[in-house]
Amino acid sequence: MRKILLILAKYSGMFFLARFLTRRSVKIISYHAIAAYDLNIYNPTLFLTVDKLARRIACMKAKKYKFIYLNEAVSRLRAGTIEPNSVVITIDDGWQSFQDIAWPMFRQADMPVSLYVYTEAVESGEPNFNVALCYLLWHAELKGLGEVTFLDGLGEEISFAATDMRAQDDLMDHAATLQPPDRTDILDAIAENAGLSSLWAERRDAFVFSSPDDLRKMAADGLDIQLHTHTHKFGGLSEAESKSEISQNIDRLSAWLPGKKFTHFCYPSGDYEAPQLPWLADMGVKSATTCEAGLNNPGVNPFLLRRFLDADTVSDIEFEAEVTGFLPWLRCLRRG
Ligand SMILES: [Zn+2]
Repeated sequence: MRKILLILAKYSGMFFLARFLTRRSVKIISYHAIAAYDLNIYNPTLFLTVDKLARRIACMKAKKYKFIYLNEAVSRLRAGTIEPNSVVITIDDGWQSFQDIAWPMFRQADMPVSLYVYTEAVESGEPNFNVALCYLLWHAELKGLGEVTFLDGLGEEISFAATDMRAQDDLMDHAATLQPPDRTDILDAIAENAGLSSLWAERRDAFVFSSPDDLRKMAADGLDIQLHTHTHKFGGLSEAESKSEISQNIDRLSAWLPGKKFTHFCYPSGDYEAPQLPWLADMGVKSATTCEAGLNNPGVNPFLLRRFLDADTVSDIEFEAEVTGFLPWLRCLRRG
């Protein structure tokens, strides 16, 4: 029904009208990783299929948007000098599949991209624990395994139901206290005990991030690299913890990419609290993007930039409705 209404809106000229009415607002579109195997079925928010990304790029290019770097957008929003129909592309985290698949596509299309990097994952070279854990447990559940058992680092047997979300959260909290290679040992043990060793051996690399060398190569080819904390935590942290996350993030990136400036930030998982915003300014940060969809109008608070998180569940017509400004415009009308 929603799709039919959007098609009617498009062919009655509403997308065209919305594009005109929202032409002075910056639209920020965001991606994470590109799907291999069944990753887009497991987590369609995080993993987009390559075909869908190709269609997104073709859609945006056909509409002749003005693609600009994040830094230019932030400066122009502040100065009120936004050129009509400006679009910014941001990527979160630093997944290897962005580098291997999406980055060459954006380059080919001559679209500037900003990548917010979660530096601990880049530094460790280990698979992303939380995402890989949920993937293995999803496969355990698909196999009909009621319980997953493994030995923790001290040789103690841990058992929990694959569908027990609280146990998963507890395990993630426990893993966050370990060094990255020890977290991977837990994933290996779970895969072995769930009879998923060969699947895990084949697919493990789909959960790793680009290396510092890879980041350097992409930066040399025009990729703008920015901040996303060191350990992918921010919302709810104290002032000292928040600032430590940012400074560790800056220190790593400065070591890997000498001479570059890192002044734009993305809240990990979109989590933040209002008192944390001034701490970003204290750290020299000039902007921060949220996970709230919408338009960025001149004079917007630069620490509350809105952006649309594209996902594999978003149809082509829904994407077009977002990027033309039609759906953001409707949301503004509803908010009054
Ligand atoms: Zn992230």
